[in-house]
Amino acid sequence: MRAGSTTATTSETVSMREREYLLSGSILSGDDFDVVEGYVCVRDGVITEVCEESGSVDARAHGIVMPCFVNAHTHIGDSVLKDPQVTDLVSLVQPPDGLKHRVLRDTSTHDLTNAMRASVCDMAATGTCAFADFREGGVRGVQALLYAIDGVSVNATVLGRPEPPDNVDEIDSILELADGIGISSTSDYEPGVCEAIAERTRGRGGIFAIHAGELDSTDIGDALDLNPDLLIHLTHASADNLRAVAMREIPVVVCTQSNLLTRVGVPPLTDMLAAGLTVAAGTDNVMFNSVDIFAEMRFLSSLFAIDERQVLRMCTRAGAVVLGLNCGAITAGMDAKVMVLDKDSYNLVGAKNILRSVVRRARAGDILFCSGGVRA
Ligand SMILES: [Zn+2]
Repeated sequence: MRAGSTTATTSETVSMREREYLLSGSILSGDDFDVVEGYVCVRDGVITEVCEESGSVDARAHGIVMPCFVNAHTHIGDSVLKDPQVTDLVSLVQPPDGLKHRVLRDTSTHDLTNAMRASVCDMAATGTCAFADFREGGVRGVQALLYAIDGVSVNATVLGRPEPPDNVDEIDSILELADGIGISSTSDYEPGVCEAIAERTRGRGGIFAIHAGELDSTDIGDALDLNPDLLIHLTHASADNLRAVAMREIPVVVCTQSNLLTRVGVPPLTDMLAAGLTVAAGTDNVMFNSVDIFAEMRFLSSLFAIDERQVLRMCTRAGAVVLGLNCGAITAGMDAKVMVLDKDSYNLVGAKNILRSVVRRARAGDILFCSGGVRA
């Protein structure tokens, strides 16, 4: 198993100012994003203190201090196909002959890598510090993603899949490089293949993730029988399905904008949260949606009558919990995956409710400071 992180390590030549710094202003603190006026101390990439204090300090950036985003489900291989006509989901994405798979087969590794790298840089530029990608194309597909993220300070959880889909023997080599396996619906596989993939993945200590309930509810029971570590979509989950998922404590990633664009429906998010599920957000296929979590956050808050805290948590801490990352909250001891927004930007100036403004209207142009980025 790979370490799972592409984040730049602190070199001995990094100056003290870069190793230790303060960020000040209105802090969205802890798991509940309580607004605290004060400053955050960062040392060697870790939040060492969150201090409530009204006086001014010599901070690297001053504004709204908040955690960077975790994008819990992407297919960034689709970066080679950003704007297809949206028709039905099956003809666009279903393996092995959906449009994206045909385009991917006809794309050189060089072009694929460059396209994916642009999307990862876009994540860094829009405040995302980590993502989990379903990477098609077997070992070669995983290798292309690892090239694409080299030098970008964004943590990638790479979930590969065998190519062709029933090539279960390839899983061992994929897991030499990747964190786990992420497959499409059980309905796309011959009987027994998903079971073999799940068993082999678990035997090697990899994460096993699967799409379920995107088009309809018929594959949800089969997916649950595989006891996955992570379920993607559940757009058509019934109350009984959600109870079963809650009982097994399987986290869920919803991809709401993507589901709306592909006309498959609206995920039952309020019911998921009421059932006590851990729910994270993902932007899904780059062919449907950009990787900008600010946009996903605005969309979620427009569509669902849920608390802003829940929306921000889905886009930060919940994704980190799902992926086993020590980030997603401004809390002492967490990795300092932090950004600072300009309180005085044209967009945010005059905001009275900081949390609500961040969720409903903040955008990448408001970022003053971000702990991520691209190494020269
Ligand atoms: Zn997906």
